[in-house]
Amino acid sequence: MKSKKKIPKVRQVISTCCWCGLKIKDEGPLYSIGCKKRPEVNISKYEGKVMPVKISTSGKTVFSFVPPPGSDARKAGNDFMFALCSEDCGDQLKEALEIETEIGEMILSSDHIF
Ligand SMILES: [Zn+2]
Repeated sequence: MKSKKKIPKVRQVISTCCWCGLKIKDEGPLYSIGCKKRPEVNISKYEGKVMPVKISTSGKTVFSFVPPPGSDARKAGNDFMFALCSEDCGDQLKEALEIETEIGEMILSSDHIF
């Protein structure tokens, strides 16, 4: 099913908590969760762009950012990242990702990166 919801801009996604929607101020603190995708999953069409991730258990769509190839984030093993306002939101997101089988098939691991 196609979502009619507009995909936000990269700038918005990396400055907004993907979990609670809070605007993260420039001065931070910014937390983020980096995810490693499974090798068979191809997300190259999202490179340098925003990738929506649907959490069906809560009916929520969270937006991740897929760093472009060759970027530091990619070199560090993060195939896509979620911006968060606090560790607390990060833990809730991580928990949601872990119980989602559909997403679980895509994600190899997810970790707080900062
Ligand atoms: Zn938050």
